[in-house]
Amino acid sequence: MKITINEAAVKINDAQSIIIAPHVNPDCDGLGSTLGLYHALIKKGHKVRIFVDDDIPEAYHILPGWEIFERPVQKIDNVDLFIVLDAEPERTGRVREITDAPILNFDHHRSNTKTADFLYLAPERAATGEIIYELLTALDVDMDHDIAMSIYTAIATDCGFFRYSNTTAFTMYTAGKLLEYGVKPNLISEALEEKKYADLKTMADVIYSIELHNGGAIAVASADKAVMEKCDSTEGFIDCVRIIKGVDVAVLVKYADEALTRVSMRSKKTDVAAVAENLGGGGHIRAAGCSLNMPLDEARKRVIAAISEAMMEKQNVD
Ligand code: 5GP
Ligand code: MN
Ligand code: MN
Repeated sequence: MKITINEAAVKINDAQSIIIAPHVNPDCDGLGSTLGLYHALIKKGHKVRIFVDDDIPEAYHILPGWEIFERPVQKIDNVDLFIVLDAEPERTGRVREITDAPILNFDHHRSNTKTADFLYLAPERAATGEIIYELLTALDVDMDHDIAMSIYTAIATDCGFFRYSNTTAFTMYTAGKLLEYGVKPNLISEALEEKKYADLKTMADVIYSIELHNGGAIAVASADKAVMEKCDSTEGFIDCVRIIKGVDVAVLVKYADEALTRVSMRSKKTDVAAVAENLGGGGHIRAAGCSLNMPLDEARKRVIAAISEAMMEKQNVD
């Protein structure tokens, strides 16, 4: 059931014991939105626990309170509300199984499956962090540095530090308001861009693997088993692929295990959310992803075929 931000605020005000979770394979929008809301609700006197069914990458340890996240282990009783951020409940992994409480879902993905009991979905928002800002305004929360830093990081990362096409006047306005609480944008971007010397060298291997398809409209980089074993983080790898002149869709295929490949896509024209949805994943028109139950080489071919097909269909429509 779709609800307004004020109705969502009432649901939260009425709940005493609350669980909050972002999606698996967490990013700074999911984690930062969760922490921003966590700090705010603790301040308002709620009993809150935050869960994520994955390790938190080391680079994201700049987020204030990242160590408060728990891993889901056993069922938790007497929970009034389960808040899911930046994805649908199915993408929270095992957190989905630890409570039977009603689910309140805040998301900005058009591909949201709409299975939550209560859903606030805003695809026009660049980040779930923007939605949390709106929510905290509706909840009349007294903003502070930790809340502001969490939400700022969520917003800034999902819009590529205000460079992607999802950046709006609201994005800039919100980020500007958050800076009034002492957030230091340079420290956040420097900490997130930072790479270990060895990882940067490994990035060179991934750049070397880039292949062009469809007359240069599709560029695909591969992070194979060897790369994934020696590399702590593949953050930023896809950005090297998307800057190639003439490329519409940039792809990074990553080895997860012999029968599982993770796929990231970025685009300038083609709707990659639709491509990802067809492959069982989701995301946004210009940034989407999926996991394919097949080896890396097969996954690469499958994704190239799916993107080519989407490009052909578009030509037919035009
Ligand atoms: P990334 O390439 O940065 O991992 O993901 C890009 C976008 O696609 C993000 O908004 C992310 O939430 C979404 N995404 C990535 N993988 C999946 C997936 O397997 N399922 C869904 N629903 N969304 C995904
Ligand atoms: Mn996310
Ligand atoms: Mn997001």
